[in-house]
Amino acid sequence: MGVHRALVIAAHPDDIECFAGGTIALLTRGGTDVVYALATGGEGGCNDLTVPTAEVIAKRKREQERAAQLLGVEAVEWISEPGGMTLPDGEVTPSLDLRLALVRLIRLHRPDLVISFDPTCMTKGSYVNHADHRAIGESALAAVWPAAANPRYHVELLDEGLAPHVTRELWLMLSPTANHPVDISTCLEAKSAALAAHRSQFTGDDAAVWARVRRDAELDGASSRFELAELFHRVQINAPDAGSGGPAARVPLDGP
Ligand SMILES: [Zn+2]
Repeated sequence: MGVHRALVIAAHPDDIECFAGGTIALLTRGGTDVVYALATGGEGGCNDLTVPTAEVIAKRKREQERAAQLLGVEAVEWISEPGGMTLPDGEVTPSLDLRLALVRLIRLHRPDLVISFDPTCMTKGSYVNHADHRAIGESALAAVWPAAANPRYHVELLDEGLAPHVTRELWLMLSPTANHPVDISTCLEAKSAALAAHRSQFTGDDAAVWARVRRDAELDGASSRFELAELFHRVQINAPDAGSGGPAARVPLDGP
């Protein structure tokens, strides 16, 4: 499968490196243009209430942008509310406004592949999935199909020159029904370095980050044919190019 462009949609800084960092490294090494879309500035990752929220967000944004850079990512898009602030950490909901923001990004970047969270994941082992992950995953799914593809959805985007777009591949992180292991044995170092760039979350203990990355990859590898893996639920969308097929809908998979 040729993936020219990928859009990765998540809730917090470090989500993508945690659950898909090796896969992102593989994609960019293979020539795929990867863009991130993040819903929040991750202020929930700082328990010290004496630190101003804006300061936490600014730091976590810088860490995320550095991590993305290490993985060869083209750009990080921060989903903003009117006024320019990211959505409040812990308060992401699958609203129509969020869907509109994601449809705008999908139509703008026209990805072949969207990676996001599986909204059906409530727990994995001892981990209780964050409600923001479920909410952004639900919004991403609704945005990929049918909203981004249907010219009658969010018609105001047509006035912005953003034609409908069908994303052919959807890979869901943290899925209880994972069916698509990715061999990340050649990318463990890149993933570890990118995750360690989130220094506010990992207190600069790089050895602990590397051990955690290896352990997670071994666990996911144990349920796949690879020794070291990241797991996704893969959905291949087999649909006509867009909605009811107006001129704006006829955008080839390779881009406008
Ligand atoms: Zn998160």
